[in-house]
Amino acid sequence: MIKETHRFQQQETTYLLGESLLQLGNHIDRNRAVVVIDENVERHHGYHLHNWKKIVVQAGEDVKNMATVEKIIDGLAAFEADRKTTLVGIGGGMITDVAGFAASIYMRGIPFGFVPTTLLAQVDASIGGKNGVSHGKHKNLLGIIRQPSFILFDYALPLTMPDEEWHNGFAEIIKYACIMDAPLFDYLEVNREKALSRDVAVLQHLVERSVAAKTKVVLEDEFENGPRRWLNFGHTLGHAVEKLEHIAHGKAVAIGMVAAARFSEKLMALPQEQTLRLIRLISDYHLPVAFTSDKEAVFDIFKLDKKRDKDAIHFVLLEEIGKATTLAVPITELKQLMEEL
Ligand code: NAD
Repeated sequence: MIKETHRFQQQETTYLLGESLLQLGNHIDRNRAVVVIDENVERHHGYHLHNWKKIVVQAGEDVKNMATVEKIIDGLAAFEADRKTTLVGIGGGMITDVAGFAASIYMRGIPFGFVPTTLLAQVDASIGGKNGVSHGKHKNLLGIIRQPSFILFDYALPLTMPDEEWHNGFAEIIKYACIMDAPLFDYLEVNREKALSRDVAVLQHLVERSVAAKTKVVLEDEFENGPRRWLNFGHTLGHAVEKLEHIAHGKAVAIGMVAAARFSEKLMALPQEQTLRLIRLISDYHLPVAFTSDKEAVFDIFKLDKKRDKDAIHFVLLEEIGKATTLAVPITELKQLMEEL
């Protein structure tokens, strides 16, 4: 187990890399903790958590809302949680987002920690302190930036994920490789078979590199004024596709990354063979590459993007694989680029 402590602006977070969920009680006093877990994770891993105070909530993106936050708050109140109680979110990104948010408003904020159980939550959602819920049709409309006090990474937990969820986590790993870690890109190419067959040593490497990449960016720019924007590579168009097609986040980001690479060829002189290499890697990880959505509809969503600044969008582009940059691209130019996709 590797223990690392990172000092964010308002909070220190301890990463417990390669620790077993069974050891949770060594890092946090179970008498001063309440666990929140979703029903699927409870079914697969809940037996590790005997004698913990536990709130079990429904699973799924549809319940990432204020009603679930209120359910957690009801549970905390029923357990007579006070300001020294730590809320521990054990689950995928839905649980970490909702648990971090509930902990941040209960009694004006109690400590919280995460045990991410999906690949996506280990490489992305649990890190960086963005916690929140959706409201009506608006994804992640309500939220806060506040760091957990610990994150326990047990690499064996995601192994029980269903196949259809498995590939989605790779989109974010490919993203880190594209924006800042060219050796990770090579590693993903070489170790594809092992990664897809859930080889734990390969997964450990992929999670550790991704955690390091995201942490580096967040430490430099916790409140998203500069480099944190790079993490949106593939996401601007990806979010629009996700909204229109109702496909998984990872799949939509994969399509968005290919489009962003195509734009990078035109705007940043990214060599075309690098785009082709990216397309090959994404397909090898069973993720989609073709942009088939209605362009007008995507463009309408683009216009409402949170990253919009007057008549331009801060688009994340690649100079080369492993090196990202942002450029304010006028909306009219984006429209033209999309037509050429
Ligand atoms: P999720 O939490 O909904 O999990 C996906 C499914 O897998 C759920 O049905 C869940 O019950 C199940 N599951 C979780 N762990 C399992 C396990 N070990 N074995 C079997 N089943 C398991 O979704 P996700 O893909 O982990 O995360 C997506 C969410 O993360 C979205 O809400 C997204 O907005 C959020 N997110 C947040 C950030 C951030 O910075 N805060 C970043 C990326 C994504």
